[in-house]
Amino acid sequence: MSSKILKIAHFYPDLLNLYGDFGNILALKKRAEWRGIEVEIVNIHLKSTRTNNDSEKHTELNSCDIAFIGGGQDKQQMAVAEDFLAKKADILEAVETGMPFLAVCGGYQLLGKYYETSEGEQISGLNILDVLTKAQKRDSGKKQNRLIGNVVADLHFPLKLAQYLNLKLSEYRSETKNCFNLKTVVGFENHSGQTFIEENSKTKPFAKVKTGFGNNGEDGFEGAYYKNLIGTYLHGSLLPKNPHLVDELLYQALKRRNIFLDAKEWLIPNDTLEAEAHERALSLR
Ligand code: GLN
Repeated sequence: MSSKILKIAHFYPDLLNLYGDFGNILALKKRAEWRGIEVEIVNIHLKSTRTNNDSEKHTELNSCDIAFIGGGQDKQQMAVAEDFLAKKADILEAVETGMPFLAVCGGYQLLGKYYETSEGEQISGLNILDVLTKAQKRDSGKKQNRLIGNVVADLHFPLKLAQYLNLKLSEYRSETKNCFNLKTVVGFENHSGQTFIEENSKTKPFAKVKTGFGNNGEDGFEGAYYKNLIGTYLHGSLLPKNPHLVDELLYQALKRRNIFLDAKEWLIPNDTLEAEAHERALSLR
């Protein structure tokens, strides 16, 4: 296989694809192709890969470089939960070896300990992120039993590629048409679940909310990460308006395969549209 091919695993594309989360796959694919990297999308459906009790060491995920799981209603989450749990061994191995894995909303919740629905049903998660999620009960009396709206947050997740490019390409730093110096993340949230990160755990907050609710509307955090596994509530879809995040995921995927591009290979002719979309979203309330 040529070294310049990246394989993106897309979990349950037909079940977890709320608010156009598939746009994240398109952003990863397009920005990789702009750097001359071919991309293959590997759809992982229910029962389509090794389960924990399979003997042979094979599964689509093991041959992939990046993974993505989108959001969904409680019903879709319940539909995939058992199958997702059965794939835990492969997912854990991928995460521990640094595979970039983006999980949005419902997918994010399923990577924690559990998600308790507003009806009180507990859906077990993979317990790879030290988080737990509880939906507010409908009769909680709280005026807001769904957390909905535009989100602007300061990124806490380290952007190693951006640090490298800011160093190597200082002459481009000031130009607005390049996105590698964005420090915020923008998106749209709509969830009933309130997610809390276990204190003093290996799991850290993905971002700090400036506008919106984030994980729970209380502690000011948005999302969570462990190594290159990122859980976030940001739909939108997230990545097209956050190109700096796309490039970080691509960089980490290539690095995991010992493939390194020169600094100027990361520059693309014009990032103005993405930079403007990000800029515009910063002012949304
Ligand atoms: N069903 C989950 C919740 O309501 C996730 C929703 C989503 O993926 N947008 O919190």
